[in-house]
Amino acid sequence: MTGLPDTRMIQLVMALRSAGISDNAVLAAIERTPREHFVPADLLDQAFENTPLPIDCGQIISQPLLAAAMTQALELHDRCKVLEIGTGSGYQAAVLARLSRRVYTVERHRTLVRKAQILFEKLRLCNIVPRIGDGLAGWPEQAPFDRIVMTAAVGECPVALLDQLKPGGLCVAPVRKDPIQVLTCYAKSGNGAIVRRILSDVHFAPLPPAETGVL
Ligand code: SAH
Repeated sequence: MTGLPDTRMIQLVMALRSAGISDNAVLAAIERTPREHFVPADLLDQAFENTPLPIDCGQIISQPLLAAAMTQALELHDRCKVLEIGTGSGYQAAVLARLSRRVYTVERHRTLVRKAQILFEKLRLCNIVPRIGDGLAGWPEQAPFDRIVMTAAVGECPVALLDQLKPGGLCVAPVRKDPIQVLTCYAKSGNGAIVRRILSDVHFAPLPPAETGVL
């Protein structure tokens, strides 16, 4: 161990910069998050590629560019209390955790939550709180949040989630506009009004309906 970043990681960060990620703090958070821990062992050779990869339970680890774009859109700072819907591998939560005070992350697959929890402990990411549950209901006991991010596509951001956003807060979600999905930012003003802004076209796994529940 030299402590120097892997050249493949440097190439990944350069690719993200070329693709429009300009926030140096976000790029540094990506660089400090060892994606190789979050991908399945048989796909280790692809851990530094800018591509989504399959994980357990038929789910995926987000493409680094999407994880970076969502993190950039959230405009995080070190006092932010963040809610993530869709823990998956835990990769995005790990990136968010480098830039915020605390990250609450909800995932419906027990297996994924258990695995992510082990990784968070191993990587000493003590400011991530994972939980098994239906993310569409948010996390009312911990609300309100400064930032909310959904990592799977929805038809529209659920009102239950926007209700859990603080005034002045931001929520970023991939919203289905068939045949594409658009990364959408919802900003809550001081009086509680929501202003919706489309950021870019993206491709995410769909978020199943709420009634599918915990698995
Ligand atoms: N953020 C992840 C990628 C997530 S893929 C990463 O960095 O690896 C989307 C995740 O959302 C999947 O793991 C899926 O199981 C989860 N998910 C889908 N519907 C959900 C729901 N209603 N509540 C909580 N999690 C959900």
